Amino acid sequence: MDERKRAALQVMERLEQAGFAAYLVGGCVRDELLGRQPQDYDVATEAHPYKVQEIFPRTVPTGLQHGTVTVVQQGIPVEVTTFRVEEGYEDRRRPSQVAFVSSLKLDLARRDFTVNAMARDRHGKLIDYFSGVQDLEAQVIRTVGEPLERFREDALRMLRAARFVAQFGFSLDDKAKRAIEQLKQESRFLSVERVVSELEKMWRMPTPSPGMGILFETGLIAALPPFYQWIDESKPAADRLERFDWVQDRIVRWSYLLSLCGTGEAVLESRLTQLKLANRDKEAIIDCLKLGSKWERQGEEEWKRLLYRFGILALKRAAQLAELLGRRQVDDPDEAKLEEWWQAMPVKQTQDLPITGTELIRHVGKKAGPWVGKTLAYLAEQAALQHIPNEREALLKEGCQIGAKYSQ
Ligand code: ATP
Ligand code: MG
Repeated sequence: MDERKRAALQVMERLEQAGFAAYLVGGCVRDELLGRQPQDYDVATEAHPYKVQEIFPRTVPTGLQHGTVTVVQQGIPVEVTTFRVEEGYEDRRRPSQVAFVSSLKLDLARRDFTVNAMARDRHGKLIDYFSGVQDLEAQVIRTVGEPLERFREDALRMLRAARFVAQFGFSLDDKAKRAIEQLKQESRFLSVERVVSELEKMWRMPTPSPGMGILFETGLIAALPPFYQWIDESKPAADRLERFDWVQDRIVRWSYLLSLCGTGEAVLESRLTQLKLANRDKEAIIDCLKLGSKWERQGEEEWKRLLYRFGILALKRAAQLAELLGRRQVDDPDEAKLEEWWQAMPVKQTQDLPITGTELIRHVGKKAGPWVGKTLAYLAEQAALQHIPNEREALLKEGCQIGAKYSQ
C-alpha cells in the first residue's frame, strides 16, 4: 500500500478512537475509482481543528481558518480538514467565512463536482450521496447541485470544470456548459494567480484540448483575467485547439495559446507580465514566439547561427510551435537534425573557447576593455559555425585582427 495512504488511514483510526468520524475525501477517492494514482490522500473529520492539534503530537497549522491541520504521521504529512460549509462568497473569489459542521453530507455537498464529492471510510465503505460513481461511469463532469448556483458562489469552478474535462477526457454536463456561457463574466474577479495555476495544471495533461475546447466554445477564456483585456469572443476552429495535444512542453503550449490570442511582438512582454510568469518562463516564451512565429525556409548556415544564438532547447520548441502554426515545410530541419547540428558544434558558448581574455589581451597588446568580450563572442560564433578552427593558434590570429579594429 502507498505509504501516504497508510499514514492517512492511521490518522483516521486515531481520530475514531478519540470519538470523531473521519473519512478519505475528494480527489483520492475519485482517482482510486478511476484506477489512477492519487496525488494526495485528504482526510475530513468532524473533530475541530484544535482537537486535531490536541490528539496528535506533531501537527502544522496549515490553514486553520479553513479548518486544515497537517498531521505528521511517522514523518508523512496528512492534511486533515474539519467538515465545513462555506458562507457568503461576497467577492466571488473566496468564501468570506467557513462554518464547521458535524455532518459529512454537508461537507460533501459544498464540493464542486459529483466525482469530487465522494468519501470512503477506514474500512473501505464508499459514501456517495451525489451519484459520483454514476458520473464517473458516464464520464461526465457535473456540479453538485444547480450549476448556476454553484458557479455564482465561486467562479473558479467554471475553470476547474474545464480543467477536469482535460484531466479525465470526460465531457461536461450540458447544463453546466450553458451555465458557464451565462455566468462567464463573473470570472473577471478571479485572481490571475488562480487562473494561471489552473492553466498550468492543464499543461501537465497529455491532452489538454478538450479543456481548451470548453474554454473557447463557452467564451470563458475571453472573460478570464488577464485574457479579457486582450481578446474578443472570436473562436478558433476546433482543429486548431486539437493542436494543443501535439506537444507536451508547457512553454510551447503557453506560446501557442498566446498566439491564438493574437499576441504580436509589441504586446508580448506586457502580456507575460500580466500573467505574472517567472522570468525564465517569460524569456523562454519570448524566444519561442520570436523564432516560431517567424519560422521560414533558410539555409543550413542560418539555422546553425540561430541554434548557436538561442540554444537547442529554444530551437526545438520553436520548431514545435512552427508546426502548430502551420509554418513548417517538409524539408525544414526536424528536431533530430537540429540535435545533430548542435552536437557537432565545437563551441556552444564563449566559455567553451580554448583561449581566455587575458591571453587575447597579451596577444593583441592593447589595454583591457569592452573589445575583449566582443572579440571573444565573435570568435566563439565563428568557431561554432566552423568558419575558423577551434584551435588556439587560429583563434588568436583571427582575434588579433578583430581585436585591433575595436577602438577600446
Ligand atoms: P487533483 O488530483 O488535481 O489535485 P483534486 O480533486 O484533489 O484534484 P483539489 O484542487 O486538490 O482537487 O481539491 C481537493 C478537493 O476539494 C476537490 O476534490 C473538491 O472536492 C474540493 N474543492 C476544491 N476546490 C473547490 C472549489 N473551488 N469549490 C468546491 N470544492 C472544491
Ligand atoms: Mg488534490
